[in-house]
Amino acid sequence: MTENTAPSYPVQRTDAEWRELLTPAEYAVLRQAGTERPHIGEYTNTTTKGVYSCRACGAELFRSDTKFGSHCGWPSFYAPLAEDRVEYVEDNTLGMKRVEVRCANCGSHLGHVFEGEGYDTPTDQRYCINSISMRLTED
Ligand SMILES: [Zn+2]
Repeated sequence: MTENTAPSYPVQRTDAEWRELLTPAEYAVLRQAGTERPHIGEYTNTTTKGVYSCRACGAELFRSDTKFGSHCGWPSFYAPLAEDRVEYVEDNTLGMKRVEVRCANCGSHLGHVFEGEGYDTPTDQRYCINSISMRLTED
């Protein structure tokens, strides 16, 4: 039996390194699983074509063509760029049963995924992602 049960991600940094690399606001969301206030994120209503990458490690996570207007206050996608780009973790905090979405490359918190809400999208899933967890590179 090994003592180390923490998931190992391709990108590994110490907490001190993350604090140096990220702004305090980015750190609070990406590394402490915080949530941006709704409707304030820079990408909430963005329709610019491009690729959304992890702000912590640069891994490409979502494409603009799966982004849709959910009106929930956060950028919403119906699918990741590829299933292996993200990791799912059961989240039972705040008295809710949710599924957390993390970057599979560095383990940083991105947001949550919800399904069966009735949105008219190909998957009926809503990846509700914090703007501050991503960086948009225009096509
Ligand atoms: Zn990452």
